[in-house]
Amino acid sequence: MKSQYRVVVIGGGVVGASVLYHLAKFGWSDVVMLERRRLASGSSWHAAGGIHALNADPNMASLQAYTIDLLSEIEKESGQNIGLHMTGGLTLAGTPERWEWLQANYRIFQSIGIDDCELLTPQEAQKRCPIMSTDGVLGAMWADREGYIDTTGTVQAYATAAKKRGAEYYEETKVEELIQTDDGWQVVTDRGTITCEHVVNAAGLWAKQVGRMAGVELPVSPLKHHYLITDTVPEVAAADFEMPMTVDLEGFTYMRQDQKGVLVGIYEVDHEHWAMDGAPWNYGEELFQEQLDRIENELTLGFERYPSIQNVGIKTWVNGAFTFSPDGNPLVGPVPGKRGYWTACAVMAGFLQGGGVGKTLAEWMIHGEPEADAWPMDIARYGDFAQNKRYIRETTGQFYSRRFVMNYPNEQLPAGRPLKMAPAHDAMTEAGCKWGVSWDLEVPLYFAPKGFEETPTLKRSNAHDIVAKECKVIREGVGLMDISGFSRFEVTGPNAELWLDHVMASKLPAPGRAKLAPMLGENGRLKGDLTVLNWGDGTWWIMGSYYLRAWHMRWFDDHMIDGVEVRDLGEEYCGFGLVGPKSQEVIEKLAEQDISGLRFMGCSDFDFGLVRARVARMSVTGEKGYEINCRYGDHIKLRRMLLEAGADAGIRECGFNAMLSTRLEKSFGIWSAEFTQAYTPGMTGMDRWIDWDKDFVGKEAALAERDGNGPAQVQVTLEVDALDADASGYEPVWSGAEHVGFVTSGGYGHSTGKSLAMALVNRDKAAPGTELSVHVVGVERPARVIAPSPYDPQGKAMRG
Ligand SMILES: Cc1cc2nc3c(=O)[nH]c(=O)nc-3n(C[C@H](O)[C@H](O)[C@H](O)COP(=O)(O)OP(=O)(O)OC[C@H]3O[C@@H](n4cnc5c(N)ncnc54)[C@H](O)[C@@H]3O)c2cc1C
Repeated sequence: MKSQYRVVVIGGGVVGASVLYHLAKFGWSDVVMLERRRLASGSSWHAAGGIHALNADPNMASLQAYTIDLLSEIEKESGQNIGLHMTGGLTLAGTPERWEWLQANYRIFQSIGIDDCELLTPQEAQKRCPIMSTDGVLGAMWADREGYIDTTGTVQAYATAAKKRGAEYYEETKVEELIQTDDGWQVVTDRGTITCEHVVNAAGLWAKQVGRMAGVELPVSPLKHHYLITDTVPEVAAADFEMPMTVDLEGFTYMRQDQKGVLVGIYEVDHEHWAMDGAPWNYGEELFQEQLDRIENELTLGFERYPSIQNVGIKTWVNGAFTFSPDGNPLVGPVPGKRGYWTACAVMAGFLQGGGVGKTLAEWMIHGEPEADAWPMDIARYGDFAQNKRYIRETTGQFYSRRFVMNYPNEQLPAGRPLKMAPAHDAMTEAGCKWGVSWDLEVPLYFAPKGFEETPTLKRSNAHDIVAKECKVIREGVGLMDISGFSRFEVTGPNAELWLDHVMASKLPAPGRAKLAPMLGENGRLKGDLTVLNWGDGTWWIMGSYYLRAWHMRWFDDHMIDGVEVRDLGEEYCGFGLVGPKSQEVIEKLAEQDISGLRFMGCSDFDFGLVRARVARMSVTGEKGYEINCRYGDHIKLRRMLLEAGADAGIRECGFNAMLSTRLEKSFGIWSAEFTQAYTPGMTGMDRWIDWDKDFVGKEAALAERDGNGPAQVQVTLEVDALDADASGYEPVWSGAEHVGFVTSGGYGHSTGKSLAMALVNRDKAAPGTELSVHVVGVERPARVIAPSPYDPQGKAMRG
């Protein structure tokens, strides 16, 4: 072992080994992986080894698809047998809603390029898995690329393949301390100290402690998980093919063949955390005693699903632990504020996701950016609030128990909530507010009559008419909207303007003006759909999506120069939006100064009674509107004043659902839908804001796009002949039988009376009037490209 490497990867489980392999593969071979015992002696050795292509989150499904394809490659490259059995796999639907969901997902998988799936009747499914009972099964999805592998062999294969490419790994080497230096880290092990530029925390069950070694509190916890392996099952032994990997979602079990018996794994509804502060250092390759009382119900369902296992013995019980983040996705990437400290942990399904995690992290470390949008697994999707132990316990527990439970897009789950509430929260609740959550903050969805409960559904919900009324108020009268859920950064200092001009691709606004500002990465892809406000007193604001606060702050820090201070105002400022044609009439009543001259995209300070607020004349709804930013202490008072002043104009409180419907009618894109870091300015129309005459981050790549052949796909607005459901995102778009794009977001435009979607489609299908079709909840519906902004295309209302 040398005393200096470029990278030290801590942990020799499947994830660490994959990171090591990908670093070496992409050209960094001065890398070492340290393992305190033997390879695969954490969660990895006792995993069930199941590989499924499917995941409810399309981003995770892509990651899994990459990993599955990689497995045979590393087997070949390493010469190490990984015991790959590509049996194909079934996912069973046991309720009408689940069957609908599976059909919808079948189409979404097509959209993201997973095209080896087919939908089956219960009888067809049983032909492929003859040991299963079809009781209660309404349909199934088959995927070719599913099966199982030998877990220890797979870890060995990654490590061996990495070694062949020049990487090193050492077992029986425990990292005990991490010391940050000016240009990297000192890694203190029980076999000496190593100096390096980068450390990667791939410590699996011990990730928490390895985080703490660097002063990082990771939102991660282990939970226990059971599977059993049966003795020989005669029907399995007699079959001339292997049973497929079968997931029974309503039964909370997965099953695969194991020699001549089967392995049945259980996602326990009655979950149990273990070692929330990290596994003990003396924990090795042990297992826990099985806890049958905790899994009785799921076990009964499993035995009913596969009746032949009722007559055979159980050869092995496994009750082991593996780690989860609050949303179940991995925690990957550079840790904000800890230069050179990277995480690759909380990988719940290391054998299906580990390949993709390794690839993403290696690209990130080597090239500064991963190739695909890594947001769903980016460590910066959480802020400090997620360090709270109870938050971690509730959210990871909720995720685990609901692992096989159906999630509806309009469903609100209780774990870790309410956490942060804007001051007027209670008064708004009293007024009927139904809340959603963005990051740590409760955000208003809509205001409902007392006793109203929204029914979870994949289609239009019973809140549809309530949102319609709020949209009408916004379009015809005046609505009041709590906009605490926007991010606000203050930029000051002698070099503030210089810095902003460099990181934003747009022109900067003049004093007293605001401007939409795309921010690009060095690769020319989007990093933000922000608004820059120039208050005219040497203070600038950047406003954007609230849940991106830590992510954007990391970006700002990484691109910081002397003479600039960027402060996240998220704990200081909140506010209200006043939207609709009558908004001016209401605001004029309250403002101590003359606000009538504040033009569209103007911004200035105003006094409303005793409250001093920073006001910008803009609204994402496409109506005349004012964003009134106040200090947290003024929130309650400001709401009260605005409601009183608006009473004569019929003011009504509105929520984000109405905002989403109205912005769709204006074809205004939003982050995580129309805009992501996978897309470019040319694809999304963001290029129209770029100031090509100046220098800015990402200019070279953006110019290459502009002056090259242009993007293959571009953003369009679609009108969908929908029935009782609207598109939501990732649904495939077709031109006849040709797959020509996918939906980025969709919904119902209440003012236009149209079901709308925004989509990325091939350029030759982007002209208004092009007839296309879209799958909505699994059903193909006619759709056509329409001109952008079906509501008020000239933008008269918002400028008016
Ligand atoms: C019962 C069960 C069944 C499962 N079934 C599946 C399945 O079918 N498919 C699937 O994909 N996943 C499955 N999993 C999950 C899978 O096991 C994990 O996702 C995976 O093992 C995580 O790998 P890892 O490398 O992140 O962590 P680990 O395997 O825990 O590896 C971390 C390694 O880091 C080492 N380490 C920690 N701290 C230090 C230190 N300070 N110095 C040096 N070394 C250190 C540890 O010794 C350990 O070897 C299952 C898990 C369980 C418990």
